[in-house]
Amino acid sequence: MKPKIAIVSASGCRACETTMLDIHYGVSALNRWAEIQFWPFVLGSSMADLERIDHLDVCFFSGAIATGSDRAMAEMLRKKCDRLVAVGACAAYGGMPGLKNLKKPATAEAADRGDLPEELALPEQENRVRALDGVDGIDRVDAVVPGCPAPVNLVWAAVSALVCGGEADARITYAAARLPEEMVRPILSGLGPPPGAVFAGEKAVCATCSRKKEEKRFKAVKRPYQAYESTGRCLLEQGLICQGIATREGCGGLCTGVGVPCRGCYGKPPATFDPGAKMVSAISSTFETEKPAEIQKIADDFVDMTGCFYRYTLPAQCMLMKG
Ligand code: SF4
Ligand code: SF4
Ligand code: SF4
Repeated sequence: MKPKIAIVSASGCRACETTMLDIHYGVSALNRWAEIQFWPFVLGSSMADLERIDHLDVCFFSGAIATGSDRAMAEMLRKKCDRLVAVGACAAYGGMPGLKNLKKPATAEAADRGDLPEELALPEQENRVRALDGVDGIDRVDAVVPGCPAPVNLVWAAVSALVCGGEADARITYAAARLPEEMVRPILSGLGPPPGAVFAGEKAVCATCSRKKEEKRFKAVKRPYQAYESTGRCLLEQGLICQGIATREGCGGLCTGVGVPCRGCYGKPPATFDPGAKMVSAISSTFETEKPAEIQKIADDFVDMTGCFYRYTLPAQCMLMKG
């Protein structure tokens, strides 16, 4: 019997869900391998349809948990699904919607005062945005595909490993993503990925970035448009805030390869506890000066450190800190 699967989006931009359609020939292969039972975006499935389903084998879940309906859907899917897969930074870490936790929205303040205009009435909001595994009714997430959006090759690698028993043609994607050997071996032998598998590498983006590190130091923080260049030098050493050192590899240095600093969309590598602290330490060791006033001037150039260093991971990192 074919595995029964669900594909859903909670609060996000839906690009991760669209990645499921971007697997091109893979979509028809997916249909050959699996029975798609619940997919609101493509099949128009409703919550009532989900309630009628007894059991699902795998659910690919993208988007963060920001509303009551996101949470209800996630909890119901957890109960019905053998394997729940977080697809993309929003589901895996809270993603960019998680930055909402930094501030109470003006509309929520207006709602508290009771003067929210009716036409602005919003879906019931959770008190804070969470990653999928941060929801009380969700005891585990079985696998993660990181990225914003989760890239096609890794999504297909996860589909192949979790739905097709490792048999569909995804070997090249396992290699391209530098998935750890101890993860690929059981997939290829048909055992499936280990619990909690992250479909990405284990080192930092710097390990796969082709840019040259020269131990040079910078005098001022720059924005990408101020420093586009073709010298092939490390972007951080030029004053661009590249987070490759605190971000999990797997994209092959997609952004840095074209001169754009890494913004951290794959989340932190397993050996890093706090990516923000790691970035502060990496950047401060790259200042050219040791004079306090000049250091202060460089530090003043940073805009929104929290939003920058935890752009994709704030809810998950807060949970980790809370212990
Ligand atoms: S992870 Fe990025 S691409 Fe995916 S749903 Fe969230 S915002 Fe969109
Ligand atoms: S800091 Fe950025 S540009 Fe420099 S080596 Fe690491 S990933 Fe590449
Ligand atoms: S370089 Fe960084 S921001 Fe760009 S895709 Fe890779 S992990 Fe994401």
